[in-house]
Amino acid sequence: MRLIFLGPPGAGKGTQAKVVSERFNIPHISTGDILREAVRTNSPVGWQAKSYMEKGELVPDEIVTKIVVERLKMPDTSNGFILDGFPRTKQQAVSLDEELKKIKKALDYVIYFKTSPQMSIARLSGRRVCRSCGANYHLVNIKPKKEGVCDLCGGELYQREDDKEKTVENRLKVYQLQTRDLIDYYKSKGILETVSGDLNVEEVFDELSKFFKNIDAHRFK
Ligand code: AMP
Repeated sequence: MRLIFLGPPGAGKGTQAKVVSERFNIPHISTGDILREAVRTNSPVGWQAKSYMEKGELVPDEIVTKIVVERLKMPDTSNGFILDGFPRTKQQAVSLDEELKKIKKALDYVIYFKTSPQMSIARLSGRRVCRSCGANYHLVNIKPKKEGVCDLCGGELYQREDDKEKTVENRLKVYQLQTRDLIDYYKSKGILETVSGDLNVEEVFDELSKFFKNIDAHRFK
């Protein structure tokens, strides 16, 4: 099953994508994660992306699209994938369509996480991430067993620089200006499904489960 998870920063896309990825055994491809790793390891892509990410702006389409095109060539995507945080511009969406067409594949669904700005801000400002394994936590909603320590690997939890107030505002503005139009783009293709990103993690998961239950997973094999 080939899926896109679409919505503003802080909509909970990454959290849900991890669960859905396991359930359908398809990779969760987060361009934000890939870019952060590139910055962390000081790769050429990381040098190019860093200043945009720090300001909460979009990394240029050519750079991000190239990353995704390469990633989609990997064999683990043969049964499908979940794209989280990509596409974010119309140009990226068109490039993705063209790329999938080349390999005679198409998107199955775009899940839109409809989320209020207040909820996005509350999620992002409370989010903490493990420095070692990248697992996500929240100061109120998803607390680790021991404060500041990752349940999974014992790594240190930290606040992403771009989750701090000043950058969050800009990220939400950028979403409104550059990404929001994709809702209509995919609606017009008849593949958009909406879930409420304002619900808590379990409730959103229930909504998604109901949706996926209606789908015959085997048809996507
Ligand atoms: P995220 O973790 O999805 O919130 O992404 C973090 C940052 O990475 C964004 O604020 C952008 O600077 C950059 N980024 C991630 N995905 C994309 C994309 N599809 N297009 C452009 N920039 C992106």
